Amino acid sequence: MAADLLKALISFDTSSPEGKQYRELVRFLKEWLEERGVPAEVVEVDDEYRARACPWGPRPLLFAWVGEGDPLLEFNGHYDVVPPGDGWSVDPFEGKVEGDRIYGRGATDMKGGVAAVALALAKLADWRGPKVQAVFVPDEEIGGRCGTGYRVAKLKDRFPIGKHVVIAEPSGGSVWIGHKGAVWVEVAVFGEQAHASAPWSGDNAFLKAASLALYLQNELASRFSKRVSRHEYTTGHPLAKMNTVTMGGIAYSTSNKTNVIPGTFKFTIDIRVIPEERAEDVAKEVYELLPDYARARVVELMEPYLSEDSEVAEVIEKRWGFPKKVCEGGLDLRYYRGYDAVAWGPGELGLAHKPDEWVRVSQVEEFAEMYAELPRLLK
Ligand SMILES: [Zn+2]
Repeated sequence: MAADLLKALISFDTSSPEGKQYRELVRFLKEWLEERGVPAEVVEVDDEYRARACPWGPRPLLFAWVGEGDPLLEFNGHYDVVPPGDGWSVDPFEGKVEGDRIYGRGATDMKGGVAAVALALAKLADWRGPKVQAVFVPDEEIGGRCGTGYRVAKLKDRFPIGKHVVIAEPSGGSVWIGHKGAVWVEVAVFGEQAHASAPWSGDNAFLKAASLALYLQNELASRFSKRVSRHEYTTGHPLAKMNTVTMGGIAYSTSNKTNVIPGTFKFTIDIRVIPEERAEDVAKEVYELLPDYARARVVELMEPYLSEDSEVAEVIEKRWGFPKKVCEGGLDLRYYRGYDAVAWGPGELGLAHKPDEWVRVSQVEEFAEMYAELPRLLK
């Protein structure tokens, strides 16, 4: 049953932001759940919100539930995937099965988790305890505003949020109690544009930017090395416990011409922020390091998330031995700030967003078993 469900989910092209088959996948999953005695309801992101936040097309969210009363537990899974990209040796939307593996875009991130949640609800169809619900959302891969963001901001009256929340992301053999934040800054460095045959007549913004980039890299890395997080991180790399810096993801001279002395040069900085700090403060720190010939602009800011005393993580660790860790990347968890929310799910960590992504069918089944047992262990 798990393999068939996964294969079907993978067969829909739910690459974001286009979301070509969002509605088809949601319709399929709703019927799949209802056929197994699990009520489900689709809510579309309203037009006004959509025009501002995700103008590409319809954004359906699917709610499903068992039990009665105030929700005890909420599962969350994003059904969108990143576009397949190049380098595949199989059809990314076929769901090819090879032994215990099933291949396809999203197998690990995270149609495997979506399948495990749906299977768990089907197992719980006769559940008479407090409500256990699931929400299947789009757009996680593009920031989540029309997915989990919409669920939390706009739908919590209609569907109250669970006391405990589990996002079924592939969590690499641990339970993620938090994730790092991020600050993306674009730095513009100003010089004076001139003809390249007379370098003495201009002021080369590229050379200034190059030395500024090196200075910022060294200065920030040295500051960050003194601010070590007390949590464990998924990769276990010593640098993962600090804020990290990546320079120059985008770098260009605005004149973009070989025979011109660059007058303005721009480059980006990507900083990942440990949950003990605030992304906003780190952005200020960057601003304060800039000389007067440079200006910075924050293009994206995501605060870190941490649920330090998470009850649900405690239960998961005690019952099944998954250690509590912090995820180096960003997750939809941050939208559930203030709730007991963690991420815990099947999949192969190193495979997300890569060609020939796969997941183990047996692992999806194991998670479905654990998800179905979890509400019995929670208060
Ligand atoms: Zn994901």
